[in-house]
Amino acid sequence: MVSVSQTSVQATTGREDPDPAQYRAALTLGFSEEGRGLIERAVDYAVRAHAGQRRASGEPYLSHVLAVAEIVHQLGLDHESVCAAILHDVVEDTPVTLDEVRSDFGPAIARLVDGVTKMGQISRYRDAAQKAQEHAESLRKLLLAMAEDIRVILVKLADRLHNMRTLRHLETASQRRIARETLELYAPLANRLGIGQIKWELEDLSLRYLEPGVYKEIATHLDERRLDRERYIDHVVVSIRNELQAAGIQGEVSGRVKHIYSIWRKMQRKNVGFNEIFDVRAVRILVERVADCYAALGVVHSMWHHIPREFDDYIANPKENNYRSLHTAVVGPGGRTLEIQIRTREMHEHAELGVAAHWRYKEGGRFDQSFEQKIAWLRQLIEWRDEESTASDFVDRFKSETGDRVYVLTPQGQVVDLPQGATPLDFAYHIHTEIGHRCRGAKIDGQIVPLTYELHNGEQVEILTTRNGTPSRDWLSPHLGYLKSSRARAKVRHWFHQQDRDKNLAAGRAVLERELDRLGLDNMNWEELARRLRFDNVQDLLVAIGKGDIGSTQIVSAANDLFTREEEAIPLSRPSSRGEEGGDVRILGVGNLLTHMARCCHPVPQDPIVGYITRGRGVTIHRRDCPNVLRLYQHEHERLIEVSWGGSQQRVYPVDIQILAYDRSGLLRDITSVLATEKINVLGVNTVTDKHDHAARMKLSIEISDLEELSRVLTRIGQLPNVIEARRELQH
Ligand code: MN
Repeated sequence: MVSVSQTSVQATTGREDPDPAQYRAALTLGFSEEGRGLIERAVDYAVRAHAGQRRASGEPYLSHVLAVAEIVHQLGLDHESVCAAILHDVVEDTPVTLDEVRSDFGPAIARLVDGVTKMGQISRYRDAAQKAQEHAESLRKLLLAMAEDIRVILVKLADRLHNMRTLRHLETASQRRIARETLELYAPLANRLGIGQIKWELEDLSLRYLEPGVYKEIATHLDERRLDRERYIDHVVVSIRNELQAAGIQGEVSGRVKHIYSIWRKMQRKNVGFNEIFDVRAVRILVERVADCYAALGVVHSMWHHIPREFDDYIANPKENNYRSLHTAVVGPGGRTLEIQIRTREMHEHAELGVAAHWRYKEGGRFDQSFEQKIAWLRQLIEWRDEESTASDFVDRFKSETGDRVYVLTPQGQVVDLPQGATPLDFAYHIHTEIGHRCRGAKIDGQIVPLTYELHNGEQVEILTTRNGTPSRDWLSPHLGYLKSSRARAKVRHWFHQQDRDKNLAAGRAVLERELDRLGLDNMNWEELARRLRFDNVQDLLVAIGKGDIGSTQIVSAANDLFTREEEAIPLSRPSSRGEEGGDVRILGVGNLLTHMARCCHPVPQDPIVGYITRGRGVTIHRRDCPNVLRLYQHEHERLIEVSWGGSQQRVYPVDIQILAYDRSGLLRDITSVLATEKINVLGVNTVTDKHDHAARMKLSIEISDLEELSRVLTRIGQLPNVIEARRELQH
């Protein structure tokens, strides 16, 4: 099996000079007489050109170029590519000129060397100023060079891979810059070209420098369980092997290493902990023929329960980069999740080598179709750039293009590209947000299809809308399969958010207005209130109130904080005191109504007491057990009111409250009873009753200590029978 290994000739990171003879043998392996001659000449050329040169790592420069050539050789490229790899740095880093390379090695190899050299300049542009325009321009040049000769990027990827392998010698800032560029540019390119091996290694190495903490943590976790995992996998491999044999299927079964970067991505995507992912064990089955893939799948599914949503048939539906394989997951021995990939050897080599396989199988031509597809993709990308203008568009486009896409047509024949797996609804949202919202159906090539239909390349999509259509919440459920594109989903979410928000905003505004009005805080600064409740702005506060996240208790509490912090800003009269004359007995519940102690029972503080509203002489205070009071309970109980002894000194504020009610007997007593229970002093009462509609308007002056108390009292009075409204009245 082919692999781009790190140490097939010798340790490439050694500081001693590499042995060219050893490389000459390895690099010429498998080539014709002519190819071997050129490669040997290129090695000698590089030995001379790079003589005595060392890289920042202290490693001889020659080691680098020979290691890059080795990677290119292992990818199975032709002798011209191997030569270009050996010579890839001579023009850039030695006195040798491109013309000399051309006259010594011919135009084809010279063109490749030139292409690789130019690509190397991308990082230099970014170093200089990070100018988006320049970066996009050089990216475009790179793609152009690729489209002209794909071998250029393959040599460049090999160069980058070796640089990443030896990155530890550089300083941290350079490491991070190069790692980021690798992750943003080279790894996606490797992926798009289907070179799985290089892609994974580039991603893992990038992560190591970009997120060293995460990388180390995952690596450590993996290492801790290595033994346990290997034992498990060995056991599983043997079981599968036996079952395949029993079923007469020839296949190779092996454990599969999970890449750290893919683990990290999965943790982010699924938002799950280490254990859930680290416990996943992976196995790969390689078989001879496509039919064997499905037969092997049947064997595996008969051995263990499979997890239906984890099954993917990339043989029937290859990925955009032509990746083909069956993926399944089963509940393996011990209840542990087991991931299984099943593919033919040919599919496997293609998954590992991608476009590079083109050279390996040049004669058979089996991969030429996918090779052509990839080149076509590059051309498309470049042509698109010509119609558009901004640089960042191009970079964005490149990023989204490196994912899998599907191309469909509008009824007017315009090409629209969407993520692989997109539906007509994705298409509708792509055309226009409003069309998405109002979309009710779709026709594909004239046939009505469900909105969950998966679009295929080249299909013509027509969207059916209704005039007043609105999105459905179902569209947001991933398992219902309405939308694939995250942008479309964001548009639907935004619509609902907006709807809910508008509704909640209006409701919240009404609640807040009512609450503040009731407390007589019409002038309250809403912005300050929002800040106090830790909202960025008033609108967010109103929405939260509308949703019920913020209740009136919190509103009042926040208002009260503002009120006690900035008393002068709140329209309250100056404070007075309760019970300020130390020795005097103060009676709460009657305010400054005239009170006298009853002569019949002489109540003293701490006695349970009750008040009797006399006709014209204020309130008489009796002990509750006074015989006269007991008699009053029977005949004149409406005139008895709750009173209590005054407590310790407390700062209070006079406020006026207004109560609107349908008059009834005992109403005033009930109200004063509430006030007495709350230990609130009444300074004055003024009642007007309208004889026609029986509406009573009462104005009470009371003393409160804070707004929470006021709010509580207003609420309790408001809950009394016949009371229509209880609110604070401002003293103007
Ligand atoms: Mn290089």
